[in-house]
Amino acid sequence: MTQYVYDFSQGDKDQKDLLGGKGANLAEMTKLGLPVPPGFTITTEACREYLRLGVEPGELRVQATTALRQLEDRLGRQLGDRHDPLLVSVRSGAKFSMPGMMETVLNVGLNDASVKGLAEASGDERFAWDSYRRLLQMFGKTVLDIPGEVFSDEMDKLKSAKGVTSDVDLDTDDLKGLVQAFKDAVRTHSGADFPQHPREQLDLAIRAVFKSWNTERARLYRRRERIPQNLGTAVNVCTMVFGNLGESSGTGVAFTRDPATGRAGAYGDYLANAQGEDVVAGIRNTLSLDDLAELDKSSHKQLMKVMRRLETHYRDLCDIEFTIERGKLWMLQTRVGKRTAAAAFRIAAQLVDEQMITLDEALSRVSGSQLAQLMFPRFDPSGNGDPVTAGMAASPGAAVGRVVFDSPAAVAWAGRGEQVVLVRKETNPDDLAGMIAANGILTARGGKTSHAAVVARGMGKTCVCGAEELDIDERGKAIRVAGQTVGEGDWISIDGSTGQVFLGQVPVVPSPVETYIEEGLDAACDGVDQETVQLVQAVDRLLRHADQRRRLGVRANADTAEDATRARTLGAQGIGLCRTEHMFLGERRTMIERVILADTPEDRNAALDALLPPQREDFTALLDAMDGLPVTIRLLDPPLHEFLPDRTELAVRVATARAKGEANPEDERLLTAVERLHESNPMLGLRGVRLGLVTPGLFLLQVRAIVEATCELRRQGRSPNVEIMVPLIGSVMELHLVRDEADALIEEIAAEAGLGDLRIKIGTMIELPRAALTAHRIADAADFFSFGTNDLTQTTWAFSRDDVEATLFAAYLDKGVFTVSPFETIDADGVGRLVRIAAEEGRATKPDLKLGICGEHGGDPESIHFFHQVGLDYVSCSPYRVPVARLEAGRAAVTAPPG
Ligand code: PEP
Ligand code: MG
Repeated sequence: MTQYVYDFSQGDKDQKDLLGGKGANLAEMTKLGLPVPPGFTITTEACREYLRLGVEPGELRVQATTALRQLEDRLGRQLGDRHDPLLVSVRSGAKFSMPGMMETVLNVGLNDASVKGLAEASGDERFAWDSYRRLLQMFGKTVLDIPGEVFSDEMDKLKSAKGVTSDVDLDTDDLKGLVQAFKDAVRTHSGADFPQHPREQLDLAIRAVFKSWNTERARLYRRRERIPQNLGTAVNVCTMVFGNLGESSGTGVAFTRDPATGRAGAYGDYLANAQGEDVVAGIRNTLSLDDLAELDKSSHKQLMKVMRRLETHYRDLCDIEFTIERGKLWMLQTRVGKRTAAAAFRIAAQLVDEQMITLDEALSRVSGSQLAQLMFPRFDPSGNGDPVTAGMAASPGAAVGRVVFDSPAAVAWAGRGEQVVLVRKETNPDDLAGMIAANGILTARGGKTSHAAVVARGMGKTCVCGAEELDIDERGKAIRVAGQTVGEGDWISIDGSTGQVFLGQVPVVPSPVETYIEEGLDAACDGVDQETVQLVQAVDRLLRHADQRRRLGVRANADTAEDATRARTLGAQGIGLCRTEHMFLGERRTMIERVILADTPEDRNAALDALLPPQREDFTALLDAMDGLPVTIRLLDPPLHEFLPDRTELAVRVATARAKGEANPEDERLLTAVERLHESNPMLGLRGVRLGLVTPGLFLLQVRAIVEATCELRRQGRSPNVEIMVPLIGSVMELHLVRDEADALIEEIAAEAGLGDLRIKIGTMIELPRAALTAHRIADAADFFSFGTNDLTQTTWAFSRDDVEATLFAAYLDKGVFTVSPFETIDADGVGRLVRIAAEEGRATKPDLKLGICGEHGGDPESIHFFHQVGLDYVSCSPYRVPVARLEAGRAAVTAPPG
């Protein structure tokens, strides 16, 4: 029989697939002997079965009954009993944390009878009724799909009738009235009475958690975070402990280090006399852990001890949720906490200094995308003017955009290409789409652990929260602050590193990490605060370690001397791809057009002759900028249509001229040629080596320019190191044809120049499935392979790279065909398999065959790990991604499984 239910004493932290993150860590804490209320976890497998069948598997009900009875026996109390009832919480917990995305129901087991038992047993009638109204509220919203406002409006009505602002000011009679109002609302909105039977409540709550896996916002979150849609969630059923039992009770969230900045020392928010999500919902202002120490010294001490124990055990920043019930600490959750990019680097370095982890481990704890975030610009300290207000620095970065007040507006404005900042009183999970669309998020309420802060940090998005001086009128679309009014569409700038808010567009400057990468440690540390120094030092330490450990070289894709120089500063060890067709965009386009359209050999030769000087100059500058390092120059690979005049435009011009009786012979001739060469699928047509082979002299002209540039630099005492690359090979014969001519020409020019062997390598791109599958032959004629994974993805999937991302991918991502675009992250199973085959078979023919990759995947963190495993020699990516690739290549080396 499949085991669908695990007691907390049965699992451990490594069982996240089955028990979800929360369940696995609750089990781990139980194993450590930490104070976890007893309970059990229903597996993700049960959820998947439910979603597949539409009903709970039969064994689940049976196993849940056994687990519940064991729990009851252990505690000597029964679920929903009329005297001293056992109550449970029902919480979701998937393998990957999805903050605020899924459902929780607390106080399951309360009904009209057990509420009295709870009052008696706790000696606190108000508490019992407060717990009951919370159950009705959460159950109504989560299980019965009644809009949350139905309940919050009732509550607001009552508060204003009583003239109070906070829920703690409501007395027992108020709460009894509220329970009645909530029950009425349940009947009105769901057509049935609130279920009084405790077991029915439990079963319905479990089912609601299962179903919450597939809500629209949960699916959206997973798409963005690249979490597969088919994992399902576990459900944790846990004995309730109460933070709402008066002033000696409360609930909180804490981090063992500051997740926003990485500063050492515990950080957290606590709310007395509160339960569940109160603390993150921003309903009352929270206390700090220091405040808690003053309020309840002993609980604070217990908490610090537990946090230290957890950090030692997990050897990382942990975040926790806890409840204090009448002075007794209970742990409700822990996990290795999400953190900002800056915190990730600083904490990793701190833990090395504290001798908790090795440098290799530290490297595995940071990521290329975090480094990329740290390289984003920040506000110019001299150009800021005065902030109008400040909130909490919840997620760093500098965001400038136009104010929008709700999620749909953010999506709509961003869809029109506008930069927006989403401004809300507080955010909730329904705001996710808007948060994704916005450059930054600004809220008036809530702390660093509020929904906005947690989600923004997870997304690497700038966020300022709890800017309480902002008077936000969401309906009227206006913010009033410091005597000024800001409306929808007005510019605002927010600084997620300081919490400052500015009106208008504040100019930005490079980040200190960018300065470090471009100009070195001293320049970056000059005149900045100590925290920034620590950050830059951490980045330096980990990036240097990555450079030491990585096996993959990192080159850049660059077409100009300027890009090459920049790439070199960023640490590129050569150029992996110079796209020569890029040298003929703009004004120079017609030079190629003339070659392609030439009618006679004479015309063609004249057109080719015209190409030589500019090409030679281009190459000389490029090789000079990368002197001593390898530079792979690819022979022309233009999709033909990009180099010919637009057919429709030309046809219209010709027709108009004819109609006027003013036919232009040049245009007529051009149109005939363009029509002759027109292709329905230019990407599958006369491009790459094919164009070279049907256009006599074209490739040879480029080879000549490359060789002459090399000779010129050699004569100047420089050390050019050039590799010529042939694009779009499908058969070894194509390569032989190009190579034979090219080798002869190189020899001829070298002999004339008297410079001996110029050591120019000739290799090919592997970007067609046929090339990959015949790599053992192609390797005979190639000094190196460079995988063109853009075209290889296009041709393996038959996905037009220019079209499908816009037309098809949203649907495919949603339907789970893939979790990320295969143009972004290598499709390891399909396209990657071709890369693997070609690498292995190419090297079987030629063991020292050099292998690189120059498609967009060369700068993608996940893909870099794949290329490391396949055994490539280097990746090549755009210059600005070079540092990211260096870091990821180092991470691949320290995290790859041996072998
Ligand atoms: C490729 O196809 O991956 C490649 C690098 O070439 P291009 O993008 O220029 O077609
Ligand atoms: Mg290509």
